[in-house]
Formats: sequence, C-alpha cells, structure tokens
Amino acid sequence: MNISSRNILIVYNLLFAGILVPQSSVSADKRINSKPNFIIILADDMGYGDLGTFGHPTIKTPVLDRMAEEGQKWTNFYVSAPVCTPSRAGLLTGRLAIRTGMCSKKRRVLFPDSNGGLPENEITIASTLKTSGYSTACIGKWHLGHLPQFMPNAHGFDYFFGMPYSNDEDLINGKDYESTLVNPKVEYFNVPLMRNSEIIERPANQTTITKRYTEEAVNFIKHNKDKPFFLYLAHSMPHLPLFRSKEFENKSLRGIYGDVIEELDWSVGEILTALKKSGLDDKTFVVFTSDNGPWTIFQDQGGSAGLLSGGKGGTYEGGMREPAIFRWPGTLKPGIIMDMATTLDLLPTFFKLANVDLPKDRIYDGYDISSVMLGTGKDPRDIVFFYRDEEVFAVRKGEFKAHFMTQHEYGDEKVTVHDPPLLFNLNIDPSEKHNIADKHPEIIREIKEILKQHQATLIPVENQLDK
Ligand code: MG
Repeated sequence: MNISSRNILIVYNLLFAGILVPQSSVSADKRINSKPNFIIILADDMGYGDLGTFGHPTIKTPVLDRMAEEGQKWTNFYVSAPVCTPSRAGLLTGRLAIRTGMCSKKRRVLFPDSNGGLPENEITIASTLKTSGYSTACIGKWHLGHLPQFMPNAHGFDYFFGMPYSNDEDLINGKDYESTLVNPKVEYFNVPLMRNSEIIERPANQTTITKRYTEEAVNFIKHNKDKPFFLYLAHSMPHLPLFRSKEFENKSLRGIYGDVIEELDWSVGEILTALKKSGLDDKTFVVFTSDNGPWTIFQDQGGSAGLLSGGKGGTYEGGMREPAIFRWPGTLKPGIIMDMATTLDLLPTFFKLANVDLPKDRIYDGYDISSVMLGTGKDPRDIVFFYRDEEVFAVRKGEFKAHFMTQHEYGDEKVTVHDPPLLFNLNIDPSEKHNIADKHPEIIREIKEILKQHQATLIPVENQLDK
C-alpha cells in the first residue's frame, strides 16, 4: 500500500469512527444549531385543569407531567380567542383575528359551506420558516379555510395530513347535533381526511385519528432529522365528538374524556421519543398547549378549566388561559413560569430564535418572549386583550383584569355591559370571584385608555367568516 492510499484508509476509518467529520456535515450541524426545530402540539378544547401537572386528580398524563418537570410550565399562558378559528389564525400569524378578518359574531368559526379563510397575503410561521430553509408540516385539524387557496399548502406548509375543519362538522342529515355529539359514531360525521389536497378517507375514521396523526408526525421528524423543521401538530381531540383507539378504551377513571387525554399524552411521548432517537432532543423547541378552553356545555364530555371560571366561547379565564409546557433540553432552564404570554407570541419568538426578521409592513400583536424563556430579560408582555368575536370583552393589565362586557359562552343570553367594568386581581383571585372595581378607579381609567389606544390601531378588513 502506498502512502496516499494508506492516508485515504486512515481518513476513512476516522470518518467511520465519527472522529473526523466531513466538511458538509459540519456546515449542516452548524445550520441546525443556528436554526432550531420547532414543534407546536395543540390540543383542541382542552382545559386549564385537564392535565395531571395542572392539578387534575383522575386523568393520568405521565409524559406531559415529565415534560413540565424537564421543561417549563407556564401558568399565565393565553390564546387570542376562545374558539377554534380565530385562535388558530392568531397562533399562526402572530396577529389578532380582528386584523385578518378571521372572527365574526354571526358565525364564530368556519364551516364546510364557508367561502372564506386565512387571506393569502397573511404571513404564517410556516411560510416564513419555509423560505428560510425549514421543512414544514401541518398534521391534524386546520380550520382556517377549506378552499384550496386557504389550505395549509397555500400557507407555507410543504405537507398536510389531516382534516380541513372540526371533527363535528359535516354531520349527516337528520341527526340532532347535541345528542349525536355525546353518542357519536364515526359514520355520523362526514368529515374528510386529507393528504395535501387529496381526500383519502371520508368519513374520517376518528377512532384511530390521534394514533395516525402521531405516526405521521413521527415519520416527518425521522425524514427531516438532517435539516431544520417546523411541525404543527394540531390534534382533533378532545373536541367533541370524542373518539379514541381501542388501546385507550375505558382506561381512565375520568371516563371517555380521560381516555382521550391519556391517548394525547401517549402521543406526546411518541414525539419526544422520536426526537431522542433522531438525536434532535437538544435541537428542538417543543410547545404543548390548547386552542381554547373546555367545552363545558357538554358537561362530563367537555374538559375542565380547573380553578378558573368559564370555558370555551367566553372571556372569563377558563375560555382563554391554557395549560402550556415548553421543552428544549439544554437551552431552557426548567421551572414554573408565571410571566404572561400568549400563542400570538410564538411567531415573533420563533423568528428570533431562527434569526429571521419580523416583517415590518404589518402590525403584530405578539411579542418575542425568548428573553423570558431563556431567563435573560423581562417579560415584554403586560397586556392581554380578551376578544369575543369582533369585540374586546375584557383586558388584562398586569395582575388586573377588567371585564367591560360578559356573556354566557353559548346560547341566547344577551350581552351584559358593565360600567364600571368588573375588576379582578388575577394573582390573588384567579377564579374571578371578587369584584374590586370600587377600590381601584385609577386602574380602570388606565385600562380604559389602553383599550382606546388598541382600538385606534385597528383597520377594517374583509370578514372571512361571513362569506
Ligand atoms: Mg378548539
């Protein structure tokens, strides 16, 4: 063997042993480090009190409990609307639904006969990360418009596997909505399951839907282990009608709702295991939360907001404060975070972490909260607006929350206008039971001014839900 061929053999052996790393791998690794992967796991209609780690006594969620121990449990984390469509529009765009036309009093969410959707000129987390070299996938429920120009593939997602809208829509003729929801059969809901633009199953077999979303998500992670990715895994559950796989039937002390949450917990475990096996644990920022509070009108088949008042559809805390868990081993210091944050903040935060500029041609309602996560600075957020459809019903400023209007989450009850507004101190009274408006007229004046300033930033846009 001559010298040069011996050198080649030595280099080959070092490469094989992992001691020398080829130049191309070095740059790939550097790129991954500067561009972390992002995963959002979104439950649908899960309440603040539905996880073991958030205090539920009979739902077992060992994976999420451990995720909260290893990561950060956020206890003042909100969504931007108390129902699906506007909440999801806010999460993906970093902008309140009032700015994108994705909220309405007449029709609170999109339906199979809707002609509107998330406008094409809106920028999503996916569309920007994609242009920055990320692989992007939306797996699960979309609910931001089922026409092709509004679907995930038109909004920056390379891949879509899931349902275009909620699992209770497309109810077959002649069935009573409410009784069917609590005594469901797969064939009652003619909702399609899609892969990109193709319908692959109709009605979707919802008993295996959590399991199949999970398999798709795991495959996406495995196929993208060598390049940065954004995975938006938006489960259809525990939105009614409730379905779960055979393995989870009658397992939970909490009944079918508990079975469904326990399957979601298993699903999170599969995702975290896939990250570990792919060597991506410390390169991936995972967020787990829910799109809005529990659907309490369905009693034991809806979830629980724990000690919070209200639920899905309303602007008391239970409608919009969600359990939230952040995990990024080696980067996030584990702990309980009581600072305020919202799903609107995910877009600016992801962009900061991925070194992508926030567009300057539009108003954002989200803040970059990376300094809070990383423990390097103060929370930039001190205010949360509680929108019900197109109107601000309540405003939180620091520890105080003022309700200008209240209304029952669902049904025909009229709006009650409060003047002076109801005022609660959420640190002392998270259940919003003790009105302290008469003690703090100065706080009410300040919050009224904040609301006025916010409303001055609104520009009328075409309503997408009434179309
Ligand atoms: Mg929902």
